[in-house]
Amino acid sequence: MTTTTGTPQHAPLPLLVLGQGRDLASERGVECPGDLPAPSDPGLVERARAAKAALGDRLFVLGHHYQRDEVIEFADVTGDSFKLAKEAAARPDAEYVVFCGVHFMAESADILTADTQTVVLPDLAAGCSMADMAAIDQVQECWDELAAAGVADVTIPVTYMNSSAAIKAFTGRHGGTICTSSNAATALTWALGEAGEGGKVLFLPDQHLGRNTYARDLGGPLEDCVVWDPHRPMGGLTVEQLRAATMILWRGHCSVHGRFSVEAVEAARREIPDVKVIVHPECRHEVVELADEVGSTEKIIKTIAAAPPGTSWAVGTELNLVKRLAAQFPEQRIVFLEKNVCYCSTMNRIDLPHLVWALESLAVGRVVNPIRVDPDTAHHARVALERMLSLPGETAKD
Ligand code: SF4
Repeated sequence: MTTTTGTPQHAPLPLLVLGQGRDLASERGVECPGDLPAPSDPGLVERARAAKAALGDRLFVLGHHYQRDEVIEFADVTGDSFKLAKEAAARPDAEYVVFCGVHFMAESADILTADTQTVVLPDLAAGCSMADMAAIDQVQECWDELAAAGVADVTIPVTYMNSSAAIKAFTGRHGGTICTSSNAATALTWALGEAGEGGKVLFLPDQHLGRNTYARDLGGPLEDCVVWDPHRPMGGLTVEQLRAATMILWRGHCSVHGRFSVEAVEAARREIPDVKVIVHPECRHEVVELADEVGSTEKIIKTIAAAPPGTSWAVGTELNLVKRLAAQFPEQRIVFLEKNVCYCSTMNRIDLPHLVWALESLAVGRVVNPIRVDPDTAHHARVALERMLSLPGETAKD
């Protein structure tokens, strides 16, 4: 296209919102090779060992499944966010809990540990894009709008672990519960029961986990779900839509899991004989519907570990975990579901240099990057977390 002055003018490119669609043309050739550079200082491993030894039992290091190998090597325990927070709470003798994960996880650990314990996040830039998609003022505004529409009284908030402490506290204040990807169906069943006939759930902040749990696990119709967009007046919904809905899904998603596609599932089936596709429930509904298995990181690990040798898997979750599974189970063929998806960039902010810096600082008595949730927020967040633990049939879930 040219202008009247002859200047070339390009058609405006539509913006691609992560998790909302795919632009295969622009992504062509942008495969993630899955290789991370070696630490610049080869002495870092020894320094981490020395600092850890100097701190002894005063230190407890937690490593989330999505962390890189060089960090996982120093973890006293690995797991998903809730398992790690509970592990920290079970170690009251540990003065310092170094959380190799992202910010909301360190907050949860601080909420569940004793006041005498200090939780440290080696890099404060390790946030979570999904958690950041629900800010407390946006959620409060949404609740006010629900009240104005006359539906707040029959709405129970159900909030995924992957949320800020402020959102968890909001949930506690409004009679709701936290859930994990392993117990979302239990939490949702409880909340819908509490809400009663004609009641609703406000599901925060991952629309995909909410939709998948309601439609796939509970067998609810998709038409019962509406999406609340915090960037639009009234969430982009009418009062009638809000009143008719059962599930009000917050418009949030994971920047990693939201990118796995139907095309990738179809390609895996074409290219790998007898492949089984296993994905995390943070993936989009159409992807989850096509998969053979759906489950939390812990379930993915257990499923692959229990599969017969020679089984082929295409795995739709974070790349660090998939690579580790492939190394741990060489008798299986394990591939990453989508070559255009890469690591969780915020999880990967925690690297060996940051871990060494945090450990060496603690070893000389200097606390860096402490994560402290204020007492009022922590109290109400704990209410929501304890409600989850008291759900029917709920045990120490992963
Ligand atoms: S993988 Fe997704 S949900 Fe997990 S920390 Fe990264 S952005 Fe957040």
